[in-house]
Amino acid sequence: MLPYLKQTEEQITTYIAGVSTETVKSSLRKERRDFQDLLNLISPAAEQEIEQMRSIAVAYRKMHYGKAVRLYTPLYISNKCVNSCAYCDFSIKNKSPRKTLTLDEIIKEAKAIKALGMDSLLLVAGEDPKSMSIEFLEQVVKEMKKYFSYLSIEIFPLDTEGYKRLADAGVEGLTLYQETYNQELYLELHPAGPKRDYLSRVDAIAHGGKAGIRTLGVGFLLGLYDWRSESASLAAHAIWLRKHFWKSKIQFSFPRITPVGTGFQAPAPVSDEELEQMMLAFRIVFPEADMTISTRESGKFRDKTALSCAGLLSAESRVTPGGYADAEDKDVGQFMLNDTRSAEQIKDDLKKSGLEIVIKYWDKCI
Ligand code: SF4
Repeated sequence: MLPYLKQTEEQITTYIAGVSTETVKSSLRKERRDFQDLLNLISPAAEQEIEQMRSIAVAYRKMHYGKAVRLYTPLYISNKCVNSCAYCDFSIKNKSPRKTLTLDEIIKEAKAIKALGMDSLLLVAGEDPKSMSIEFLEQVVKEMKKYFSYLSIEIFPLDTEGYKRLADAGVEGLTLYQETYNQELYLELHPAGPKRDYLSRVDAIAHGGKAGIRTLGVGFLLGLYDWRSESASLAAHAIWLRKHFWKSKIQFSFPRITPVGTGFQAPAPVSDEELEQMMLAFRIVFPEADMTISTRESGKFRDKTALSCAGLLSAESRVTPGGYADAEDKDVGQFMLNDTRSAEQIKDDLKKSGLEIVIKYWDKCI
């Protein structure tokens, strides 16, 4: 469990298992909710109240985001990585050839993404200090700001100074998943590499907060461990971050393991119903938080949760470095995509559901 939590995992899981339908209803009647309410809403008892949870989530989504749904595109700048995460094809143990794009190649990718009509970019990279210096990243960010109004990063952890340099260069958002909050399992899944240090991984996002990064994205990898226990840790982590970095916005993601080339099997698979319950619970308890749903999920599931929970969707994702400029690129991808619709198709489908697509949602004026 998250080290900041006062309760033990056993206390939390025993509590969740014993929640009654009445307790769930009482959490749903409240105007402001806390950690305990999150536990109530992710409990098995809350499955009976899913319709009510859906309608409350829809109301909050409307209240905070109206009909707007924002789209962004990930750009993989490198699939080299010194870590050995068991669930990822970028692991150092996977001996397939890898590459880090040059600045010129990244610009080529940026132009190809721009041509798809996108204006928000997520820069993604494995951890490879040899080819990915802070100076290089800074240069990439500055260059990308010429093409995109909103930039976020999903890269290896940096210290406060490193994040500050990227924030000054134009980064507004940072995503750093804990993968699993279970410390024993974490060590098992991360046998070598700098990522093996559980505590420094937990604390890394706080460096982004200290550096003044505007959006702090947190999550765990769904399928590694019991989702209810992980959700409790995630919620506690978010509450801690909100308290310490109140100027930043919290963003939740719910990445679910999809098949990878290494054949890794999710030890604790999460069903669509469970994922929806989790997203609804977080939307209700953290009504002001951002929430994304990636192309790991099917188009049908994404369109459905965009109405009640998620306000931010990725589109046209290619998970290989160079995958936009070279559509035939057969390089190592990070995971399998389930929503392969074009950005245009995604926009059309979301519009049919009554949502309004927002491509440009950020302009720094001060
Ligand atoms: S999950 Fe991230 S750190 Fe782990 S192997 Fe993949 S790219 Fe590297």
